[in-house]
Amino acid sequence: MESFVQCHYCKKDLNNPLELVCRHSYCTDCLKKEIQNDKIICPICGTEHTALAASLSSASQDKLATYVIGLNSGEPYSVITDDAPATIVAACSECRNTTDLRPCFHCGKPLCADCRTKHYESQKKEVDKSITSLMTTTNELIVLAQALNTSRTGRIQEYKTIKEQVSTHVKDLVKKLHDDEQVLQKKLDATIQAENEKIAVTERERQYLEKNKAALDQVMEKYRNETNQMILIKMHKDYLDSAPVWKDRLHAHANRISTKKEEELHFHPIPLGTNDGLVGKLTASKNVNVNAPSNDSHLPSLKNPTGSRSCIIL
Ligand SMILES: [Zn+2]
Ligand SMILES: [Zn+2]
Ligand SMILES: [Zn+2]
Ligand SMILES: [Zn+2]
Repeated sequence: MESFVQCHYCKKDLNNPLELVCRHSYCTDCLKKEIQNDKIICPICGTEHTALAASLSSASQDKLATYVIGLNSGEPYSVITDDAPATIVAACSECRNTTDLRPCFHCGKPLCADCRTKHYESQKKEVDKSITSLMTTTNELIVLAQALNTSRTGRIQEYKTIKEQVSTHVKDLVKKLHDDEQVLQKKLDATIQAENEKIAVTERERQYLEKNKAALDQVMEKYRNETNQMILIKMHKDYLDSAPVWKDRLHAHANRISTKKEEELHFHPIPLGTNDGLVGKLTASKNVNVNAPSNDSHLPSLKNPTGSRSCIIL
């Protein structure tokens, strides 16, 4: 992990660090190389910074990073030793006792060992309090950042599950449609075949009736052409004897070609409803399941006077 005082660009300790308005710092030289059209996008937070000529002034020098680098190098403290000789013997400017005095690094006054210890204790208390407060806030922010991304990761997992569900649902629908189609097509094929068979049967009936008609024509022809009345009387008698049989037979044909027994199939397509939509609906909810605020207004102590977001990293 990059350290707080490491430049994101050159990966070295910040050299003459400048702090952007987003509170992320980079070496002055590194930053200047990255500026294009007086514009730079912070590689850490993605904030776009414009009008840099004005904002990258000495006012934006990162004093915190400079302090941490100095602290780590130990260089400013290397000359200070515990057994440095007392500078003067005089009255302590706090307790007025005359003894060995050394200047206090806190207030610069010449103090005795006891008074210097007192100042040390009071300084230490303040520093401890400040560090504890910064540490608490930092830890809270780390927890928030983690919770935010954990919740996002969870949502991504949910979206992936929804993706699979949508895909499975559509596959099921397609399969069901296909199965329905197969059943319907088979039924229609069978019906077409049955109708064709019925046509063939009825056609044979019709042909048989044509033969009947021809036979009747023959009978009528015979009657018309016969001149002998005695023969006609015999013919009439024979016809009237066979007519009921003929009528019976026609009745049987009539029964078989009755249109009243015919059936028809009707297809009623089901319209695609809005309720049984193909894949359902994706609705956005603002109820994000994480105890993280959308802004850091719950941490007023971290807000700088301009109200822009700020971060403290130790
Ligand atoms: Zn750099
Ligand atoms: Zn930034
Ligand atoms: Zn003293
Ligand atoms: Zn002091």
